[in-house]
Amino acid sequence: MSKRSRRLGRRVARAAAAIALCLAGAGTARAVTYSGAYAIRNARVIDGTGAPATEHVTILIDGERITRIGHDLDVGDRQVLDATGLTLLPGLIDSHVHLNSVPGAMLRKDPRELYERLRRTELPAYVAAGVTTVLDAATPKDFLAWAREQVAATGAGPDILMLAPFLTPAGGYFGDATMRGEAFDELWEPIDSPERLVAELDAARGVPGVVGTKVTMEKGFGPFDVWPVFDANMRARIREEAAARGLPIFVHSMSDPEHELALDLAPKVMVHAGYQDDAPSVETLARMRDERVAVISTLGVTDQFLIKSEPSRLDDPLLRLVAPPLELASARDPAAWDAIGLATAELSVPTWMPRFVPRLSTGLYLSDWMLRRRVAHAKDGVRALRDAGIPILMGTDSGCWPVFTALFHGFTSLREVELLGEAGLTPMEALLASTSVPARVLGIDGDVGTVAVGKRANLLLVKGNPLADLTTIRNVAWTVKAGVARTPQDWMASAGAWP
Ligand SMILES: [Zn+2]
Repeated sequence: MSKRSRRLGRRVARAAAAIALCLAGAGTARAVTYSGAYAIRNARVIDGTGAPATEHVTILIDGERITRIGHDLDVGDRQVLDATGLTLLPGLIDSHVHLNSVPGAMLRKDPRELYERLRRTELPAYVAAGVTTVLDAATPKDFLAWAREQVAATGAGPDILMLAPFLTPAGGYFGDATMRGEAFDELWEPIDSPERLVAELDAARGVPGVVGTKVTMEKGFGPFDVWPVFDANMRARIREEAAARGLPIFVHSMSDPEHELALDLAPKVMVHAGYQDDAPSVETLARMRDERVAVISTLGVTDQFLIKSEPSRLDDPLLRLVAPPLELASARDPAAWDAIGLATAELSVPTWMPRFVPRLSTGLYLSDWMLRRRVAHAKDGVRALRDAGIPILMGTDSGCWPVFTALFHGFTSLREVELLGEAGLTPMEALLASTSVPARVLGIDGDVGTVAVGKRANLLLVKGNPLADLTTIRNVAWTVKAGVARTPQDWMASAGAWP
């Protein structure tokens, strides 16, 4: 028997043992889980450092950690996950999600019980889509504590970081009930005084997973100034009080003038690239670069609207696995799209204007021409940021405003990676923006973001080679979360996401 066929024989025997092991505990489902001490063999590895891919790599995993990486490693008696034909990458990091927001919930007026049931599917959806870390960009802290407990109990969810507190002036963006609905009923109080600012910042102290505070600087969705923003005095106060607590500032701003105001806060990160309706100026780009600001892409927010005219996007098998049928049905519903258009248009004009104005502008707001123009602008903005040398972080805004139906948790992160490529980043740049760059900016690079000995085994294995074709990032074969490897199907099943 040749060396190769002996090796093959051993491999088949071990795989059979692994399957048998898991079948014993999983009824009739063909669930295969690798955990404890095992090896991933014959993978193409993109390690997240920017180095070219390496072929035929073996990785040993012990518990939650990567313990060895090499080409001809002795795997001993370990179970072997055969990664032939697969590319292994660091697990993806989505730097902008809203875990307490269920797509379409506000539009459908989901009763609380249904809402909470749908929400439980989101955590496994991320892991099934290869996303092993998320940054929640402002959610009530009690909810985040619940989400982190869920992940600790089932293992089937991403590591969760959060921004807190959420600082918006009274009546400002997301500061009033018409926009939040019931879904956001427990959000942080609007900041109407310096005392309130101090109280909210102090309340966020010591909350696990907080990596910064979020400040809104958006004046309106359209050409009108609808929402107030913090004035210069308050911006200075926020900058000082956050710095005094060692809390980096993340700003929500969408256009060049808003990004300029945001820079007064000495922010670490802009949570949106924005630029849907305008283009960045050379001066603003230079300021952002010189002040070492990183920017989260969120191209998905604009791109999701195109599902209105391209419903075939909803047929993707991974999306159908991770998104509840009810959510997919809303995203197909023409009446829901009309309602989204009206809700968005109503928020885009000042309240003193007659209500027929938003009704008239609804058709224009969601017209195919306008949507495609906005997507093209947003991509141009991200490319300009990249060209200026500003670090780009992959982030989707998944969940977002729960009127939106198509910002699905988990799946949208994979679409965002593709969108970075469509915006003009190289496949390698898009992958780094989804792994080691956010790890470094968010301060978790000692633990995740690259494939290296000693790091936490948060990994993604896809069929094909994303460096040759970025869309293969959708072909998730396995996700390894904290050392546990499962297929997307088994991640969803393991969390009991579906009855
Ligand atoms: Zn957001």
